[in-house]
Amino acid sequence: MANRIIPVADLRPTPLVPDIPLPLEAPAGHLEDSLARPLHDLRISVTDRCNFRCVYCMPKEVFDKDYAFLPHSALLSFEEITRVAKIFVAHGVHKIRLTGGEPLLRKNIENLIEMLAALTAPDGKPIDLTLTTNGSILARKARALRQAGLRRVTVSLDALDDTVFQRMNDVDFPVSEVLRGIEAAHDAGLGPVKINMVVKAGMNDQEILPMARRFKGSPFILRFIEYMDVGASNGWKMDEVVPSAEVIRRIHAEMPLEEIEPNYTGETAERWRYTDDGSEIGVISSVTQAFCRDCTRARLSTEGKLYTCLFATGGHDLRALLRAGRSDEELATAIAHLWRKRADRYSELRTASTPGIDPAVRKVEMSYIGG
Ligand code: SAM
Ligand code: SF4
Ligand code: SF4
Repeated sequence: MANRIIPVADLRPTPLVPDIPLPLEAPAGHLEDSLARPLHDLRISVTDRCNFRCVYCMPKEVFDKDYAFLPHSALLSFEEITRVAKIFVAHGVHKIRLTGGEPLLRKNIENLIEMLAALTAPDGKPIDLTLTTNGSILARKARALRQAGLRRVTVSLDALDDTVFQRMNDVDFPVSEVLRGIEAAHDAGLGPVKINMVVKAGMNDQEILPMARRFKGSPFILRFIEYMDVGASNGWKMDEVVPSAEVIRRIHAEMPLEEIEPNYTGETAERWRYTDDGSEIGVISSVTQAFCRDCTRARLSTEGKLYTCLFATGGHDLRALLRAGRSDEELATAIAHLWRKRADRYSELRTASTPGIDPAVRKVEMSYIGG
C-alpha cells in the first residue's frame, strides 16, 4: 500500500510568547533542564525553503507551488540571529549548527557565518560552527564558507545510484554534483566532512553497502540515520525504519567493524570502525535507541521560535521579544526559564510505546525547524 501523505495547509504551530520572570538574571555559562541536561548545542534554521523535495522531509504533495513559505519579513535577520546566538553562548552553548530547509539558499549566508564565527564562549574558546547541507551548491560555495569562518560541514546523501537518489530528492538532482560538493568542502578545509544517509526501507536500503564501500578508507565519515517520524507530512510507518543494528550487521558481514567510544557525552552518532583500515562510520538510532537522556540541543526556527525538542508541537516566540525591544537580560532570563522547565523526551517515550504514533499530534516539520 502506498504511504499516506497527509496534506496540510499549514502545520506551523501557534507560537507561545515566553514569560520573563523577575528577578532578571545574567547568564552564568551553564544551564540545566529539569532532567539535569545541560544546554550545549544550538541548531539554527535559516530558511524554510529548499531546492529538493526529499520524500521523507518535504513531499511534493504538501510542499507544492501553493505552499505558503515564510515571507522574508518573518525570518530572523542576521543581526537578530546573532543577538540570540550570543545569549545562548553566554548560557553555555558551545556548538552551533546552521540548517534549514537548505541553508545555502539563504542569501548572503557567508555574512551570517562571519558574524557567528566571531562569538566566543565564556571560557574564551571559539564556538564550534558547522552547517548541514544537501550539497547541491556546495561546490560553488565551499571556499567562501570556509573563509567566512565555518569550521565543518555535514552533507546529506542518500544514495550513489542516480535513479535511487533522484527518486528520493524528487527533483532529478544528480549524485555527481553532491559528490563534487563533498570534495570541494574537503579541499576548502571544511573537514572532516560527515555524510548523512537517511535509510528508508524499500527505498534506498540497497544502497547501504555501496555507500559503505565508496567511503571506506576516505577522509569522509559516513553516518546512517534511521528514518524518523518527524513532522506530520511524510506518512511515516515503523516498518520503513531500518534499525541501525541491521545496518551494522549488513556492513559487518562484508567489512568487519568494531564499536568505538563516543567523542563526548550526548553525541548523537554511535561510532564504529573497520578493523582492517581503522576508518570510521556512524549510526544514528533516533528511533530504535532514543538518546533523549543526553539531549543537550535547542533549536531556533527560521522565524525565531525556540523549540526544546525536535518533536515539539509548539515553539516559544523569541522573535516577539526581540521585536518588542526587550533587553538582552530579559531575553536571557526568558531562555533560562524555558530551558530549566524542559522535560522533553519524545523518542524515549515513543520507544517505550511503539509501534504507532498518534497521527493526530501535529508535530513540527523538519524543513521548518531544521534537522
Ligand atoms: N537541507 C539540508 C540537508 O538536507 O542536509 C539541511 C536540513 S535537513 C532537514 C537536515 C537533515 O535531516 C538531513 O540530513 C536530512 O536527511 C534529515 N532528515 C530530514 N527528514 C528526516 C526524517 N524524516 N528522518 C530522518 N532524517 C531526516
Ligand atoms: Fe531539503 Fe534537506 Fe529536507 Fe531534503 S532533507 S527536502 S534537502 S531540507
Ligand atoms: Fe532530544 Fe527530543 Fe530527540 Fe529526545 S526526542 S533526543 S529530547 S530532540
